[in-house]
Amino acid sequence: MIPPSFQYHAPSSVDDAISILTQYGDEAKILAGGHSLLPMMKLRFAEPEHLVDINNIDSLKGIREENGMIVIGAMTSESALIASALLQEKCPLLPEAAKLIADPQVRNRGTIGGDIAHGDPGNDHPALMLALDARFTLVGPNGSREVEASDFFLGTFYTALEADEIMTEIRIAPQAANTGASYHKLKRKTGDFATAAAAVVIEMSGDTCQSARISLTNLAATAFRATEAEAVLVGQTISDELIKQAAAKVMEACDPAEDLRGDAEYKTHMGGEMTRRAIKDAIKRAGGN
Ligand SMILES: Cc1cc2nc3c(=O)[nH]c(=O)nc-3n(C[C@H](O)[C@H](O)[C@H](O)COP(=O)(O)OP(=O)(O)OC[C@H]3O[C@@H](n4cnc5c(N)ncnc54)[C@H](O)[C@@H]3O)c2cc1C
Repeated sequence: MIPPSFQYHAPSSVDDAISILTQYGDEAKILAGGHSLLPMMKLRFAEPEHLVDINNIDSLKGIREENGMIVIGAMTSESALIASALLQEKCPLLPEAAKLIADPQVRNRGTIGGDIAHGDPGNDHPALMLALDARFTLVGPNGSREVEASDFFLGTFYTALEADEIMTEIRIAPQAANTGASYHKLKRKTGDFATAAAAVVIEMSGDTCQSARISLTNLAATAFRATEAEAVLVGQTISDELIKQAAAKVMEACDPAEDLRGDAEYKTHMGGEMTRRAIKDAIKRAGGN
């Protein structure tokens, strides 16, 4: 299938990209890795008249540590996340989960910023960002603003980004001591999107859970945090029964759309099961029993 025709722009700075976005408004779209946008254009779900390719803007790529935070450029590819020694040491959840995204070809071009900005509840980074309590830097004609992941995902393919804004950076705190994280993703085959997936970050003190963040992929109109499930765990001595209760709370919060990957009942059940497995792994990694 061939997408409708468009005018192609390839700015080499964020300022130039914003000028083009400001000039063309809703008629323009940012092109990052293209692995979500181009399929949508071929299907005519998106018909931008101007594509603003931001691949030439070097300042949007790379992973560094700054003032005690991990800073990831929005144009950093999934492959670069996987290869990052800094992430493997200080935020191992991200490279581990990035390996579960699509296939090597998609991971070589697809970017973390594009995965988040697309607002697809089936993408993996949104739930990971919620579990990691990430903050996003959005830059537009009036300067830059910081948005927390919890305020960013507003609906399916609908985020806090304005048409003339670019996500430039993602900020995440390094994993704290006595903390474990895990992402469990059920997919029909290698390279597929999640049927259901759960991201869990847990801080333990012995057998007691000090804090918990649980978020879900593809189980509602957006990725979401299951706060009632988290409350079941916090301050408690962890047992199999408690983990089962937390998974039950997750299932109560799920509202998935039926599709080729399964009906709502099946996906909800798998959401509970992925949560149960991810909690167990996270606790073990945090040094709990
Ligand atoms: C076969 C296949 C399997 C896949 N499987 C998975 C999977 O299992 N899990 C998963 O998470 N994803 C999966 N994807 C999607 C893939 O990860 C995409 O790369 C990702 O969703 C979008 O990132 P991108 O860099 O390609 O962005 P693009 O497709 O270029 O852009 C996506 C959207 O985000 C906007 N955008 C991009 N970057 C920015 C920015 N910096 N600031 C503001 N707006 C921006 C664009 O304008 C566009 O609207 C799959 C894709 C394919 C083709």
